[in-house]
Amino acid sequence: MLWVLKMLNNFISYLIFGNHCKYCGELINFGESLCLRCKNDLPRITGEKCLFCGAGKERCRCKKAKMKYDGVCAPFYYEKTVETAIRRYKFADKPYIAKTLAEDLAETVKNDFGQIKFDFIDYVPFSESQKAKREYNPAQNLAAELSKILGIPVCHVLVKPFETQTQHTSGALYRRGNVAGAYDVASNTDLTGKTVLLVDDIKTTGSTLNECARVLKIAGAKGVYCAVAALTAVQREEHQKETPEL
Ligand SMILES: [Zn+2]
Ligand SMILES: [Zn+2]
Repeated sequence: MLWVLKMLNNFISYLIFGNHCKYCGELINFGESLCLRCKNDLPRITGEKCLFCGAGKERCRCKKAKMKYDGVCAPFYYEKTVETAIRRYKFADKPYIAKTLAEDLAETVKNDFGQIKFDFIDYVPFSESQKAKREYNPAQNLAAELSKILGIPVCHVLVKPFETQTQHTSGALYRRGNVAGAYDVASNTDLTGKTVLLVDDIKTTGSTLNECARVLKIAGAKGVYCAVAALTAVQREEHQKETPEL
């Protein structure tokens, strides 16, 4: 009975607003969720994957380089329709895209990390000045939607006490230096024995996720696994020297 009401509600909203592709926003027929172009062109990560960097085996160049996190999963590469959708999400104030991305991300978490029991979800936080400038943190909204689907609580443990330069155009070495020490956990946080699902929108070199994982582990976390909406094309992790633990 409930599904009949839901369908009726969807049909009425279709008559009033039309039905839109969940990634590009184009008008589509009732009952569909993607336009033809997105259906054929979504850059899904399929086939055999490297669960350490998240990429398909053919694009993985990580060589399992030492990182502080224990694995990465992502539904998409950051290209084509998904790149456009994430850009709209991050920079054009379209927070509702979080729900769409979270649906695909949740499926990937279930498939790739289905055997892991997560105690909570956390996300890459904004600094105070980023909070003042931006209406929302894309990673936080994504984490909130993922939490609703997976039934895992969000815990706001990570903090970003220091500002960093915007880094989407910088190289790996710069990125690592840029984020070193930028993140921390809230005072008196004890994560002993906890397993964390760490969420961000995009992974490029992994230096931000690595730094967040590093501080979570210093606070006692047993495992830190990353879930991101999209990976940039070639996953070449930083071949970093061991970062000294403070
Ligand atoms: Zn579309
Ligand atoms: Zn890999």
